[in-house]
Amino acid sequence: MKTEELRTLRIAIVGGGYGGAAAAVALRHAGAQNVHVYEQAAALAPIGAGIGIRPPAVELFRTWGIWDEIAKVSGASDHLEILTADGTMVLAQEEWPGLNDYAQPNHNRIIHRGDFIDVLLGALPADSVHLGHRLESIVDDGATATLRFANGEVVEADLVIAADGIRSVVRHALFSQKPPVFAHEHAYRIVVPIDQSHGLVSDANPRFYIGRDGVIAYNLPLAYRGELSYDITAPSDDDTWAPEISNDYLVSLLDGFDERIVAVARELDIDQVTSRSVYDIDAVDTWHTDSVALLGDAAHAMLHHQGWGANSAILDAEGLATALVAADTVSEALAAYQAVRKPMTDHLQAISRQGWNGEQVESAFPANA
Ligand SMILES: Cc1cc2nc3c(=O)[nH]c(=O)nc-3n(C[C@H](O)[C@H](O)[C@H](O)COP(=O)(O)OP(=O)(O)OC[C@H]3O[C@@H](n4cnc5c(N)ncnc54)[C@H](O)[C@@H]3O)c2cc1C
Repeated sequence: MKTEELRTLRIAIVGGGYGGAAAAVALRHAGAQNVHVYEQAAALAPIGAGIGIRPPAVELFRTWGIWDEIAKVSGASDHLEILTADGTMVLAQEEWPGLNDYAQPNHNRIIHRGDFIDVLLGALPADSVHLGHRLESIVDDGATATLRFANGEVVEADLVIAADGIRSVVRHALFSQKPPVFAHEHAYRIVVPIDQSHGLVSDANPRFYIGRDGVIAYNLPLAYRGELSYDITAPSDDDTWAPEISNDYLVSLLDGFDERIVAVARELDIDQVTSRSVYDIDAVDTWHTDSVALLGDAAHAMLHHQGWGANSAILDAEGLATALVAADTVSEALAAYQAVRKPMTDHLQAISRQGWNGEQVESAFPANA
């Protein structure tokens, strides 16, 4: 698009999670100035846990000019390690794909969700982030789209980016009514102080302990915060959104696991654990109209087994910004964005459903990425 057109294009982003925050930063870096983020949360609380940002997404932080801020609030990991449940045998230990593909090494950065959101939304003008805005409905008017929020506000935009997560209101209204798919798994996540982690943190690298019967315990060190992101994924047929759990239940799942992992489960503050049933979505055929595009989990929510969901959302953001700069019109850009990004996320959605099997770990990176 012409520089002036992109500068004044009215862009509304629904959702200020990984995808929405990254899209806002990418679009402003590309030259868009009229970019607004509408987030349902009333405040930016440091909720969530750790994730690993992979080398291609790290390169984007350099491109977007926010690398120094990200580096301050993240740890540098060079490899991923997968072990037997008891920790006695390393099943795979591999360098992060792409780490050395750039002008400088791009280590995988382990970061807390709250820190990520703070850095990205903090890079935007304060008056462009609108908290307490829960989208209720969207009308696609062709060249524009109209958003209605629960607080009564109505916004018309030339481009709406729906980064409103796995239960996207926009996806449901315009693209697919298929509900999310239950994975028959729960994810339990908590951030614990390193000095209460029984020595689980020895360096900056994530470790996955693979148990029998599908239980996985994994650790993402957040040493820059003096914390460890401690996670357990376990099979379950209970599809309650926030299943009730106890310390004893967690300990019972961890029979045969490294004693340090069991000790953390025994002692952690159960009220601080985020306990969730795990869902993804089937691939969505079309991500865009002429003025609305899905991004991140709204477009392609995938299981967390390969750690690609948030990373894909960040890469979507750059894919969309690049397409807008290159195309003549918004609708051409959205078609190009889908053509570039969807084949990759279709692949990742499919491979993420495979999960881990302790007896058949051939590679730490079966998605080949
Ligand atoms: C246990 C677990 C571990 C994971 N680990 C990793 C990992 O290591 N690496 C990785 O890349 N990914 C990981 N993921 C996946 C990752 O969390 C998601 O892919 C990522 O959060 C998607 O970002 P998003 O911005 O698209 O959606 P979300 O993070 O869900 O953000 C959506 C935002 O939109 C807002 N919103 C929703 N509805 C509305 C509305 N109607 N109006 C306004 N705002 C709205 C929400 O409040 C939220 O802020 C993991 C997921 C789980 C469950």
